[in-house]
Amino acid sequence: ETKKLESIDSMIRDVIVLLGPQAKMKGIFIEYGGSEKDKIYCDRSQIKQVLINLIKNAIEAMEQGGSIRIVTSSSESHVDVCIIDEGPGIPQEIIHKLGEPFFTTKQSGTGLGLMITKQILERHQAFLEVKANEQIGSTFRIIFPIPA
Ligand code: ADP
Ligand code: MG
Repeated sequence: ETKKLESIDSMIRDVIVLLGPQAKMKGIFIEYGGSEKDKIYCDRSQIKQVLINLIKNAIEAMEQGGSIRIVTSSSESHVDVCIIDEGPGIPQEIIHKLGEPFFTTKQSGTGLGLMITKQILERHQAFLEVKANEQIGSTFRIIFPIPA
């Protein structure tokens, strides 16, 4: 593990380059406006893995095409990254199971993506918030603290 000050923007762009073709094949457009200035102290490859896990889940959730929006925002104490999809959302009764090892609703899912995501974020004093609106889609928000 090697933590450095990294641009959140460049990590998001790398992951969009990686997953863009897979999204495009399903008729999904990844919308991202950029966030030039936000930097976080992190292990670059681990945080890219987190972004991959969440954006892959968003792509897998969207069977009808549509848009995935990636939105960053920052305050004095936090940098947030939201991944907002237009999939079916997540039923309230399974929300608490997300991140449990091997919990999956997919035919060939591993149920490990969110567990690994949570572990990596814990090592960064960061955390994940899930807002799932059935019908409207799901939002996964990563909250990174800015070290004092
Ligand atoms: P996997 O993708 O292998 O199933 P994950 O840990 O990444 O494992 O996700 C666990 C479960 O959480 C998924 O099977 C799915 O039911 C649910 N889930 C995660 N992300 C989303 C999303 N964006 N929309 C709907 N359901 C989701
Ligand atoms: Mg997954």
